[in-house]
Amino acid sequence: MTVSRSLLHHLECSRCRETFPADRWSNLCPHCSAPLLARYDLEAARPLLRPEGLAGRPASLWRYAELLPVRDPAFRLTLGEGWTPLLRADRLGEALGLEHLYIKEEGLNPTGSFKARGMAVAVSRACELGAVGFVLPSAGNAAGALAAYAAQAARPAHLFLPANTPPAFFRECRGLGATVSSVPGHLGDAGRAARQEAERQGWTSLSTLTEPYRVEGKKTMAFELLEQLGQAPDVIVYPTGGGTGIIGMWKGFAELEALDWIGPERPRLVSVQMAGCAPIVRAFHQGRDRATPWPAPAPTVALGLRVPAAVGDALILQALRESGGTAVAVEEETVLPAWQRLGRLEGILACPEGAAALAGLETLVQQGWVRPHERVVLFNTGNGYKYLDRLLP
Ligand SMILES: *Cc1c(COP(=O)(O)O)cnc(C)c1O
Repeated sequence: MTVSRSLLHHLECSRCRETFPADRWSNLCPHCSAPLLARYDLEAARPLLRPEGLAGRPASLWRYAELLPVRDPAFRLTLGEGWTPLLRADRLGEALGLEHLYIKEEGLNPTGSFKARGMAVAVSRACELGAVGFVLPSAGNAAGALAAYAAQAARPAHLFLPANTPPAFFRECRGLGATVSSVPGHLGDAGRAARQEAERQGWTSLSTLTEPYRVEGKKTMAFELLEQLGQAPDVIVYPTGGGTGIIGMWKGFAELEALDWIGPERPRLVSVQMAGCAPIVRAFHQGRDRATPWPAPAPTVALGLRVPAAVGDALILQALRESGGTAVAVEEETVLPAWQRLGRLEGILACPEGAAALAGLETLVQQGWVRPHERVVLFNTGNGYKYLDRLLP
């Protein structure tokens, strides 16, 4: 098998559009502090990446290596991330009145969540550019994923989790050889502690959207949906915290259009958040371009959605608007019943974030915003094992 070459070309500020060289580690735009995005030579990619030509490629996200940022294949870490199943959810669909409901089952990723996609790519690329160690503030799943890939890369990792994170997340990181600190407060507080440690050690922070490469791993979800479904779905329902999933897929669909896999039409992207911490939902319905930080995020079982201020807020809102999508907040008490429906009707032991997404979809079906004949993909972003003590005490 020939090894695919990365067609990474440069980095671009998502706000002021200034460009930066790709082969130097970069964080936010030095002028406007907005996230940088990776840009590729898409002309060169078009003849190389054809849906019919991908059959013999690795069953992982590295099947799209031309549009991923790692140049030297020796740096491509892999634990089996990506290429997750797209399951038909007929019983759940029937219960909701939907004829074509699918679940993208991200719980089958290494360390049990879609965070593995972003970390596989970001850790690989950071090592290629000389990273010697990693820090990260995390609500839990990103920490486990970073711990795994840092271990595979033989680099130390120091992870900062809010003190009320369930014990399984701490144990997972320790089991993978990382150092974990418990920080009083929420994710923002953990972020401050992680920044101090990064400076002290000279290590690389992979905090959400403060570097360009985790989004690159996440965009492969859009590529896979196209390959697996043979066409773009009508609606994608996604539980949203920091927004890398939505932003990544939005970027992925734009690249697929440049590759002629799809036309200008887009799936309507839906962000689901918890009513007790819904900065994106509020900003979307107020018609704003930026989200203001949510003052006192309520505790929730859906840990990954407790993000009071997202670095990528403008990009999330843009993706929702330009796709014709929407944003919906769900109440805490809807999560457990939705979780049980996913388990009992589909055999999926979902993460609470995925259950929240189902609750959001149910709201949109009731409102008539999603119609019975539409092709709907619900993202279960992780598996439920690490949360079981919270879900079923
Ligand atoms: C992090 C996380 C989310 C939120 O994802 P973003 O793409 O950062 O918005 C959703 N579900 C789970 C299980 C997560 O770990």
